[in-house]
Amino acid sequence: MSDCIFCKIVSRDIPADIIYEDDMVVSFKDLEPQAPVHILIVPKKHIKNLNTAIPEDKDIVSHIMVDVVPELAKKLKIADDGFRLVVNTGVKGGQTVDHLHFHLIGGRSMQWPPG
Ligand code: C5P
Repeated sequence: MSDCIFCKIVSRDIPADIIYEDDMVVSFKDLEPQAPVHILIVPKKHIKNLNTAIPEDKDIVSHIMVDVVPELAKKLKIADDGFRLVVNTGVKGGQTVDHLHFHLIGGRSMQWPPG
């Protein structure tokens, strides 16, 4: 989508600190990190959020959960201590960028419930 900031990061039209890329996703450091490790994993395909994902997006979502998250957690050395994966969805879910993204957060102890 032409006015989507994450699509522009995927296409390299705006800069980001990209740490991983494959044919389905791009991952980069969050501009406002909430923990020592805070990266975003973003599908290259523009999907607004989990409410608008369609059956053909299952491969992308499962690739992120099953392949990319464990690989990056290991690479970023947060796998053993644990981490949090967050998918803010919609206004009350705290989603501010309308392009599906997974926050991978670690490097400190997390609180529950989240704010
Ligand atoms: O879940 P939510 O939509 O609120 O998350 C968007 C995230 O995208 C924020 O954590 C924000 O810091 C990050 N962001 C970024 N680079 C941008 C724009 C937003 O890392 N250029």
